[in-house]
Amino acid sequence: MNEVIMHDVIILGSGPAGLTAALYCGRAGKDTLVLGGDTLGGQMAGIATLENYPGWAGSGLALAEFMKQQAETFGAKIKFVSAKTIAGDAESGFNILGDDGNRYVGKSVIIATGASPRKLQIEGARELFGKGVSYCATCDGFFYSEKDVIVMGGGNSALNDALYLADIAKNVKIVYRKSAFTRAEAVLRNRVAERENIECLFNTDLKKIAKRDDDKLVVTTTDNKEIICDGLFVAIGHEANTDYLTEDIARDNMGRLAPDALPRGIFVAGDVQSELKMQIATAVGTGCSAAMDAINYLNQL
Ligand SMILES: Cc1cc2nc3c(=O)[nH]c(=O)nc-3n(C[C@H](O)[C@H](O)[C@H](O)COP(=O)(O)OP(=O)(O)OC[C@H]3O[C@@H](n4cnc5c(N)ncnc54)[C@H](O)[C@@H]3O)c2cc1C
Repeated sequence: MNEVIMHDVIILGSGPAGLTAALYCGRAGKDTLVLGGDTLGGQMAGIATLENYPGWAGSGLALAEFMKQQAETFGAKIKFVSAKTIAGDAESGFNILGDDGNRYVGKSVIIATGASPRKLQIEGARELFGKGVSYCATCDGFFYSEKDVIVMGGGNSALNDALYLADIAKNVKIVYRKSAFTRAEAVLRNRVAERENIECLFNTDLKKIAKRDDDKLVVTTTDNKEIICDGLFVAIGHEANTDYLTEDIARDNMGRLAPDALPRGIFVAGDVQSELKMQIATAVGTGCSAAMDAINYLNQL
């Protein structure tokens, strides 16, 4: 058991929102502890080349490492621990149970626990997760060199995944239930259109996945066509990481938090909040804003 210290602020999450909040709270002289989940950087860590965060042209992980060092320079402490529960209130302090078995107490909390890929709920998807079904092209793409893969989805994440996989796999099919990629950025749509080894199957949804004896996947569409491939990469949206919060903290149907419906002393930043355009730039902006609100709150105690 660790010695229980009352921190000024505990930040949950080490993605761009949490690390920005840590930088601001640290620079304001607040005793700042980040409980950063299991790894550094959140979703940003999986981005091979970041093209739309102003001033940065490297990988997402390199940016996360830089943000971490910057926050630590100003005194923020970062532990790779996940919150299991939060109890208490503004009067007595917020009491967080970590998955390392320790308790962490803060006068305020900034929730920046981001989002995780929404899971595919069709027959076979759960059983074949890690055995041909993946939610992370940058993590698993390597295993599909010169193979045939499907990407399911039609937003920026799906198109980014397809482009990434097109450099590794032989053929990539994008399966999308709508008639066009209207939700994706034009630059990504154009790049997809230019790639000879990417085929787009619009107005197509999936209903079942199975594995053959030769290790190939048989993916069945809702109109009963079968597609044979080696891997299925799913990119159909995200759900907020808020399972560890109690029922009384209001969430929308994606598990996201509204900044103005939180208990006193709790603040929110990044993809975990509702009505946010899920980008690094917006996560950084809301991380800064949540930190400034928390600093202002602490200065008035
Ligand atoms: C494949 C992919 C490509 C992308 N490409 C781009 C791009 O090119 N440009 C762009 O701007 N955006 C891109 N994004 C989106 C961008 O990465 C996210 O919008 C951004 O990372 C959100 O930051 P965040 O800090 O809010 O949350 P996240 O990055 O999701 O980080 C959440 C953090 O919380 C931690 N956590 C989770 N649960 C707990 C818990 N219980 N306790 C403590 N910590 C917890 C996680 O470990 C993580 O550290 C991409 C996303 C993906 C998935």
